[in-house]
Amino acid sequence: MQTVFEEMNFKDHEQVVFCNDPDTGLKSIIAIHNTTIGPALGGCRMWNYKSEDDALKDVLRLSRGMSYKAAIAQLNLGGGKAVIFGDSKKDKSEVLFRSFGRFVQGLGGRYITAEDVGTTVHDMEWVRMETQYVTGISRALGGSGDPSPVTAFGTYIGMKATVKKQMGKDSLSGLKVSVQGVGNVGYHLCKYLAEEEVEIYATDIDQQSLKKVADDCNASIIDLDEIYDLDVDIYAPCALGATINDDTLPKLKVSIVAGAANNQLAEEAKHGQALKDMGILYAPDYAINAGGLINVANEIDGYNRERAFNQAEGIYDTLMTIYNTSDKENIPTNKAAEKVAIQRMEEISKLRNVFLPKQNPMNKRDN
Ligand code: NAD
Repeated sequence: MQTVFEEMNFKDHEQVVFCNDPDTGLKSIIAIHNTTIGPALGGCRMWNYKSEDDALKDVLRLSRGMSYKAAIAQLNLGGGKAVIFGDSKKDKSEVLFRSFGRFVQGLGGRYITAEDVGTTVHDMEWVRMETQYVTGISRALGGSGDPSPVTAFGTYIGMKATVKKQMGKDSLSGLKVSVQGVGNVGYHLCKYLAEEEVEIYATDIDQQSLKKVADDCNASIIDLDEIYDLDVDIYAPCALGATINDDTLPKLKVSIVAGAANNQLAEEAKHGQALKDMGILYAPDYAINAGGLINVANEIDGYNRERAFNQAEGIYDTLMTIYNTSDKENIPTNKAAEKVAIQRMEEISKLRNVFLPKQNPMNKRDN
């Protein structure tokens, strides 16, 4: 039988903690992938997993992704993630999240939690009653609040970098961009695009969101499936994952894929290579959408919105580094992003040769 240590996804994780509190009904797994650069930060997902194995696989995969995301965003953070077993519509309670908070506190700052799929700012406020190691709380409590404006800004800046690389242009003016999903991030992205006189083509399952983006950003509304066939310059996925797949790829006429959605490639290796072969420049999702992480990470030093936006501007240079690595090594941009992230982790690990006493990462907010 395969042991936990042999689990494929566990090969390079530092620590995995199983949290069990029968009194509150809490069953949770916290995975710390890598803390070379700093404490592991990553959201807490609440999901009705079919099996414990599914939950373990999910938390191991997601926490690894967080290490790369933090490293590439030039943040001094490592990668971690937590999952809570349960139905986010029925099983939430104050004691459940406070119990989770106590397990987080027990890790002494090695893991910092935040909201994620199935959890909210409100849940994190319960967590905060038991631990200081939580981000993604409301502006009213000194937190960073809704991350989507910063994510949208970072995505817009990243789109500009990608256009510069692929087309040699400094401006998006006159380009045609299709936006899939005009929710929190997609809407703000469209606002930036409209300011640069981009021709926007938007789709969404929500008619009200579409009306808003048509009214405010002069976007043309298109059907859900029409988006893949559209003759535009840029496709910006801002809704679902896995929209770059065997079915959609042959339809694409764009020269750039640059959007905020997570996990855009259905199969990383295969579809990253396919985009490269088609001459489509792909802005790796976790590099271009890092604004959200940058935003919550800012809470650690005391939240400052202006600083968060300034840091998100760095996504331009990060993407250029990725694109140059991709050119130099003749590898797809998703592979290049991973290389750049790992390189930063390796370089920083060498700094550890000089001893420094550790600071409490949340000190500043306590002052
Ligand atoms: P959101 O829920 O506010 O918006 C998503 C929008 O997509 C909604 O308007 C929804 O109606 C629409 N949608 C759902 N299914 C669709 C479909 N089949 N076709 C077209 N539209 C569809 O979410 P968000 O916060 O704007 O995030 C968008 C994406 O960006 C997600 O993939 C999210 O994981 C990713 N992301 C968000 C942030 C952030 O700061 N919010 C940060 C990083 C990554």
